[in-house]
Amino acid sequence: MNTCLFCRIISGEISAKKVYEDEHTYAFDDINPQGPTHVLVIPKKHIRGLKEAQVEDAELLGRCHLVAAHIARQRGIEDGYRTVLNVGPNAGQSVFHLHVHLIGGRSLRWPPG
Ligand code: 5GP
Ligand code: ZN
Repeated sequence: MNTCLFCRIISGEISAKKVYEDEHTYAFDDINPQGPTHVLVIPKKHIRGLKEAQVEDAELLGRCHLVAAHIARQRGIEDGYRTVLNVGPNAGQSVFHLHVHLIGGRSLRWPPG
């Protein structure tokens, strides 16, 4: 049995509000949204995080970001959104299946905390 939370969301074993899916990627609403839009875009391939990603994962990483841009365009939040990868526990990474946070629909301050 796969114990990875996000792999289990992809397989439908754990329910989530799906926003987008294609052959390589899956996107769903974050359970604890930090803005009106807070979507997690993940590769279907299990990659633990950015620091574990390999050169052969480069296209997948790009695809996740392009999916985030697509969702932002669809939602009309292109005046300002943020894509974020938390890498490692000190940056708040709590789920170890690579995910791009898409956060928008409100004004975003810089630098983030
Ligand atoms: P991280 O802290 O690893 O960068 O981000 C993990 C994100 O996954 C968090 O924003 C958290 O709210 C979200 N999350 C954790 N568990 C679940 C879940 O079961 N369902 C959904 N939809 N999001 C989750
Ligand atoms: Zn996984």
